[in-house]
Amino acid sequence: MNTKIKHQILIVGGGAGGIATAASLLKRDNSLDIAIIEPSETHYYQPGWTLVGGGVFTQAQTRRSMSSLIPKGVRWIRSAVSSFDPDNNELVLGDGERLGYDYLVVSPGLKLCWDKVEGLEQTLGKNGVTSNYRFDLAPYTWQLVEELKSGTALFTQPPMPIKCAGAPQKAMYLSCAEWFKNDRLKDIHVAFHNAGGVLFGVQEYVPALMSYIEKYDAKLCFNENLIAVDGAQKTATFNVTDAEGNSREETREFDMIHVCPPQASLDFVANSPLANEAGWVDVDQETLRHNRYANIWGLGDGCSAPNAKTAAAVRQQAPVVAANLVASMKGEPQFAIYTGYGSCPLTVERGKIVLAEFGYGGVLQPSFPKWMVDGTKATRRAWFLKETLLPPIYFHAMLKGREWLAAPKTK
Ligand code: FAD
Repeated sequence: MNTKIKHQILIVGGGAGGIATAASLLKRDNSLDIAIIEPSETHYYQPGWTLVGGGVFTQAQTRRSMSSLIPKGVRWIRSAVSSFDPDNNELVLGDGERLGYDYLVVSPGLKLCWDKVEGLEQTLGKNGVTSNYRFDLAPYTWQLVEELKSGTALFTQPPMPIKCAGAPQKAMYLSCAEWFKNDRLKDIHVAFHNAGGVLFGVQEYVPALMSYIEKYDAKLCFNENLIAVDGAQKTATFNVTDAEGNSREETREFDMIHVCPPQASLDFVANSPLANEAGWVDVDQETLRHNRYANIWGLGDGCSAPNAKTAAAVRQQAPVVAANLVASMKGEPQFAIYTGYGSCPLTVERGKIVLAEFGYGGVLQPSFPKWMVDGTKATRRAWFLKETLLPPIYFHAMLKGREWLAAPKTK
């Protein structure tokens, strides 16, 4: 096959992982020949969407033009990858063009499976059905919150894995905080329907979260998986599994429902030789190097590492990939390791956050000493971090190769 264009390093995806890795690579060696393949003209700061849905940020604060973020000296190929041919060090674009590489970094994110919930796509954005998982819908969440005076508000969480596992409940807390403030909460019945069996996967954060569940009088419904939404009838149907493992369907009425969609690996990854059995880019969870192709690395939501899928995780993963890729180019042994860090700032009220930070196995990995920010409690400092510090850290540090709170650990 005739390869027209070849780059030393190809990066798939211009999201958090792709841009951060390109910047971290150039920081180590600014002579590298790098191209990013990314079809979208817009880069989204997705962690800001919870705050859009909570009436704190505007949509505009969570969007930048892709061209303004692609690092200088990196070529932007405005196209989508359709398949991989790792045995020939090539990949194929949507139009059939083949590109060659010496090294490949894969960070295309994941797929939101709206279609897995019957009737959902047709009614999203109307009939009281919303989701902070889409840029265009997050303002509708806030509109619904402001409009709702009484009735039933449902919040749903699908089976794991999902990106930002706390986001479904963050939407609930910020909505409840507004209704609480306006003295409307006493007339609004709130329920959290979670396909899983616990409020949050790391136990240390649960007591602080539970105190807000009690304050807002929200009903916790575990092992209840949303399977259908009827917007016109304003009903949601759940597959409910009881303690004996028996399943039944239950339909609930709502005035407002916030849906977090089921999530999966993107098809072009899942159907490729790069995928593991579950469809994710099959990487070593410490080095982030592909388990079978030594010149390929994967990071972000689309990779197999069992961390919490967050931009905070990517902040630590990108320098690890960059350090190991550059070491590999020089024939040096790989030395940088990723310890599974991920962070989930749980917005329990407007102005306070429970800052969950943990690594593989749920081991706490706080960035700050306890006296400064105690992550297991709701604090104003953590809110300040999320609202004021993290967006500039994302845009001006992480996406620029300034590895603040992200220097790679070594073996
Ligand atoms: P993305 O940033 O999604 O980027 C993937 C890129 O790949 C996209 O630009 C896409 O266009 C591109 N792409 C897709 N297909 C192809 C293709 N075929 N070819 C080429 N390019 C392709 N994280 C936190 O740290 N803290 C939070 O508080 C937080 N809150 C969140 C709240 C919500 C509502 C959501 C949705 C996410 C939240 N996250 C949070 C998660 C965070 O945004 C993601 O974990 C992070 O963006 C993952 O980076 P990524 O590079 O893997 O994927």
